[in-house]
Amino acid sequence: MKEFQSESTSDMKSAPGLVPEPITKTDFYFYRDLPELLKPLEELSWNYFWSWNPEGVELFRELDPALWEKCEQNPRLLLEQAGELRLWQKCGDAAYVQRLQQFAQKLNAYVAQTPQELGKMTAESPVAYFCAEYGVHNSLPTYSGGLGILSGDHLKSASDMNVPLVAVGLLYRYGYFRQRISHDGWQEEKYQDVFHSQLALTPVLDEKGERLAVMIHIRGHEVFAQAWLARIGRISLYLLDTNVQQNAEVDQLITGHLYGGSSETRIVQEKVLGIGGVRLLRKLGVSPSVFHLNEGHSAFLTLELAREFLDANPDAEFTDAVANVREQCVFTTHTPVAAGNDTFTTQDLRDCFDANFIASLKISESDFFAFGRVDPDNQGEPFGMTPLAIRMSRSANGVSEKHGEVSRELWLRMLPDGTQPSEVPITHITNGVHAPTWVAPVFQRLYEQRLGENWPELLRDQLTWDISIDSLTNEEIWNAHRKLKKLLIAFIRDRTQTKETGSRETINEHKDTRKLFSPDVLTVGFARRVAAYKRWNLLLTDVDRLLKMVDDKDRPVQFVFAGKAHPQDRGAKKILQDLMTINHDSNWQDRAVFIEDYDQEVARYLVQGVDVWMNVPRRPHEASGTSGMKAAMNGGLNFSILDGWWI
Ligand SMILES: *Cc1c(COP(=O)(O)O)cnc(C)c1O
Repeated sequence: MKEFQSESTSDMKSAPGLVPEPITKTDFYFYRDLPELLKPLEELSWNYFWSWNPEGVELFRELDPALWEKCEQNPRLLLEQAGELRLWQKCGDAAYVQRLQQFAQKLNAYVAQTPQELGKMTAESPVAYFCAEYGVHNSLPTYSGGLGILSGDHLKSASDMNVPLVAVGLLYRYGYFRQRISHDGWQEEKYQDVFHSQLALTPVLDEKGERLAVMIHIRGHEVFAQAWLARIGRISLYLLDTNVQQNAEVDQLITGHLYGGSSETRIVQEKVLGIGGVRLLRKLGVSPSVFHLNEGHSAFLTLELAREFLDANPDAEFTDAVANVREQCVFTTHTPVAAGNDTFTTQDLRDCFDANFIASLKISESDFFAFGRVDPDNQGEPFGMTPLAIRMSRSANGVSEKHGEVSRELWLRMLPDGTQPSEVPITHITNGVHAPTWVAPVFQRLYEQRLGENWPELLRDQLTWDISIDSLTNEEIWNAHRKLKKLLIAFIRDRTQTKETGSRETINEHKDTRKLFSPDVLTVGFARRVAAYKRWNLLLTDVDRLLKMVDDKDRPVQFVFAGKAHPQDRGAKKILQDLMTINHDSNWQDRAVFIEDYDQEVARYLVQGVDVWMNVPRRPHEASGTSGMKAAMNGGLNFSILDGWWI
C-alpha cells in the first residue's frame, strides 16, 4: 500500500522514493547451476523468441506454474528463483527434456538463417527502426500502449519474415506505471525499478570488451548513455540508458520514466533517442540503408544525420543536407489530432541544443526554430516533431486509410496555398498485429492442423486465406472459443479474488468470485487507454438501461473492462472513477469487472476469450487501433465505429 502514491506529481524528480539509489546496473547476469539437461532453458531465456511460440511459453510455465505467475511470466526471474527440487523433478521428466531440446534446436535453426536481401536493405545495410517504446513482452516493461505494442509486433514480424532490421529505443528505469484502483475509485500509480528485476538484456560492449557508451550534449554538458541489447528472434533491439555513474543524478533520470515528467524531460529523452541512437549505430558499425521514424519522438535523428553530412562535406549547405537526409528517412505518423503531436518551446530547444550544434547545421538559430513549425514565419508557433519529421523524410504515412486522409488535411498547411489535400505526400499503411503473439494456442493448433505450419504466411494472401479458412467447421471454432471463454472467466476470477490477507485492498476485489461471470452469458470486452476520444463514458450515458441489459432474464450481458489513464490526466481518471461508482449495484458487481493494470498479458486473455470486442472512438480520432484485429483472429466479433483499421 505504501509504495502507491495516490496521485503522481507532474515532475517525477521531486516524487519521494523515485530518486535513483547510487547504484547503477552494469549487467543482468547471475549464475544458476541448472542441471545439465535443463541448460538450454538459460539460452532460451535470452531471446524473446520463446514468447511467441506456445511450446516456448509452455516450457517455462511447466517448470513451475505457480512461480511462473508469481514472476509475471519473466523467464529470467523464474530461472533465478526456481527451487532445486523442482529443477531435478523436471530433469527426470523425459518428455519435457525432449521438448526442451527440440525447441532449443528450433531457436538455433531460426537465428542461424541470414536475412533476406530486399533491394538496398541487406544485413550490412539494414533498416534502422526508431521508436520511443517497444511492447515486446510484459517482462520488458518499455511500453505504455498501442504504439509500443505495434513496434513490438513490428520487430517480431520483421524477424519472422527475415527482414534485415535493427531497432533503437530507450530503457526506462521505472518503466510505465502499474495501476490499481483505490476504494474511492481513483487510479493509483506505482513505478517499479527494473534494475531490481531480471531483464533479458545484455550489455553492449565495444571491441576492447568495454561498455559501449555514447555522448550527447544536454543541459550544458556531456551526458553518457550506455546500451543494452534485447534479442527479438533474429532482430537486435538496442536500448539506450543514461543510468550510468558518470552522469549527475538528474541526468541519470533522463531515461527514468516513459512519458513522464515535464516537456524538458521529454525533449532531452528525445535527444538521447534520436541523436544518441544514430551515434550508437555508428559505433556498432551499422550503416543503415533507411531510417524509419516510428512516430515523431525520434525525429531529432534527422538533425544528427544532417550534421554528419555537413561535417563530411564542408562545401555543402543546409539545404543539401536536407536533401541527403530525406533520401535516408521514412516517417510513420500515428496521431490524428494536432494537439497529440509533440511540440517544444523555443526555450526548451535553446536549453537542449547549444549554439555549437545549431552552427554545425549551418543555419541561424531562428531558421532552426522555424524548421519545426508548420508555418515557419509564425514566431508564436512551437517546434513540432511531426513537421520536422515530414520535412526530413522522403516518405510519410498514416496508419490506416482514414488516418492517411486525416493526416493529409492536418499537414496541408505545410504546403503552399492552393495545394489540394490529395496532393499532400502522405500515404497510409494500415497497422497490423503479429499473429503468433495474439492467436491463442488452441486456435494456433487448429490453424496448423487445417492450414499447415505456415498459416501466418497464408494470412498475407487474402485469396489463399479465404479458401483455407473455410476448412474449419463452425463447430470447431465454437468449441475452441468456448474453451477460451472459460479460461477468461477463470482469469477474471483469479485476478479479482480478495488477497489471502482477507482485506480488500482495491475496489475491484471480490470475497467470493464463484458467482462472477457465466460462460453462457454474452461477454463484451472493452479495454483500451482511458482517453476522452475513446469514449469510455458513452456506456454510462444511460446507466438504468445498462443495468437492465445486464440483469435481463433471458439474454443478459456481461462486461469486462481494463485500461490505464495517463497519470497526469485527471479527466481520464475521473472517467474511471465514474465507471467504478456503478459497483454499488450488486447485479453489476456479478456481471461487470474491471481488471486492473491493463497490459499485454491482460489483453491476451481478453481478446482471446470475449464474444464481442467493443470499440467506440470518436471518429476520426482512432488513427488505427489494433486490439480488434487480435479479437478477430481468435474468432471474436467486433462491434465498432467505422474508424481506423475497422473501416
Ligand atoms: C493491442 C493493445 C493496444 C492497442 O490497441 P487499441 O485498439 O489501440 O486499444 C494497447 N494496449 C495493449 C496492452 C494492447 O495489447
